[in-house]
Amino acid sequence: MINEKRLIDLFISLVETSSESGKEGKFRDLLITEFARRGINAKEDKAGEILGGDSGNLLVYIPGTINATPLLFSAHLDTVKPGEDIKAVVQEGLIKSVGPTILGADDKAAIAAIIEAYDVLIENNLDYPPLELLFTVSEEQGLKGAKAFDYSKIQAKMGYVLDGGGSPGNIILKSPAQNEIKFHIYGKAAHAGINPEDGINAINLAAKALASLPFGRIDEETTINFGLISGGKASNIVADYCYLLGEVRSLDKIKLDNITDKMVSTFTNSVTEQGGRVEAKVTLLYPEINLNPKDEVVTIVTHAAQNIGLTPILTNTGGGSDASIINGQGINCANLGIGMQNVHTIDEFISIEDLVNDTKLILAIIAEYIRHKGA
Ligand SMILES: [Zn+2]
Repeated sequence: MINEKRLIDLFISLVETSSESGKEGKFRDLLITEFARRGINAKEDKAGEILGGDSGNLLVYIPGTINATPLLFSAHLDTVKPGEDIKAVVQEGLIKSVGPTILGADDKAAIAAIIEAYDVLIENNLDYPPLELLFTVSEEQGLKGAKAFDYSKIQAKMGYVLDGGGSPGNIILKSPAQNEIKFHIYGKAAHAGINPEDGINAINLAAKALASLPFGRIDEETTINFGLISGGKASNIVADYCYLLGEVRSLDKIKLDNITDKMVSTFTNSVTEQGGRVEAKVTLLYPEINLNPKDEVVTIVTHAAQNIGLTPILTNTGGGSDASIINGQGINCANLGIGMQNVHTIDEFISIEDLVNDTKLILAIIAEYIRHKGA
């Protein structure tokens, strides 16, 4: 059923059309053309204008052959650098880049598989529910496109993001919520040799306050890190400013917020007691995913994987994805492994077998969705 040559050719044409984050315009045009050739209208939103990129997110609505709530599939349009002038080659069952660039299987393997799956549905007169396809921009820049999207345009109650590590069959059930913490610490400048007693050293304030905070792995589901520190001007100046950037992640949102609050108050109290001042800024970067193996979105893909001879592996990850944002909008959404390897490096590759299995899995999910919905 799957036309392997057509799938590979499509995948190569996708990766050879560059789309580094913020510069997805040319690739967006290619996708709009691919869908138009199939009589489907891909609609662009305003995310490009909002984010300062040259493309918005694309939403594709495909009416079903059966009456059911739409099913969502999502992938991202953008790639990391170096992603210009990619040349792809097939070698011994693997597709890789020829030059010193990434390949872009992250996430174009997903896009190629979605389009090939659609072609297979049409050619074989297979039934499918209404499909909503969401292609986001600037995922690699902190899920920006997914965050800027207006989810009132989506009717689906469940969906799949095809952007996970591991082979097809990997199903990510849990990923943490993340708070970013920024501390701006203010002291008072003075000459370090002449009148240090007139100054308040912001670096010293920060160091002492930081020493009173927990670090690293807190428990099975919670981690804390400060990963950037800057401040001060010269060794002979008592530093009047210091900046700290950190994060807290937890699978449990309540725990995340409790720990974050406690860290901010502990840090602030310490700096204040030492005579300094703190501005703290906490931002929720993305919410948690906490799916249960019994949730329908999980059982559907689990059965679908089994139906095509793949071993479903229920797994967790320590990072966020577009699935985090979509879940946060009340659409049950699992992130699925698609077989991309060595992503974000020039050694990135994907096997033809996994590309084909991605397509099979999408088709099997659609069939299983129809079965579950009793339509
Ligand atoms: Zn990705």
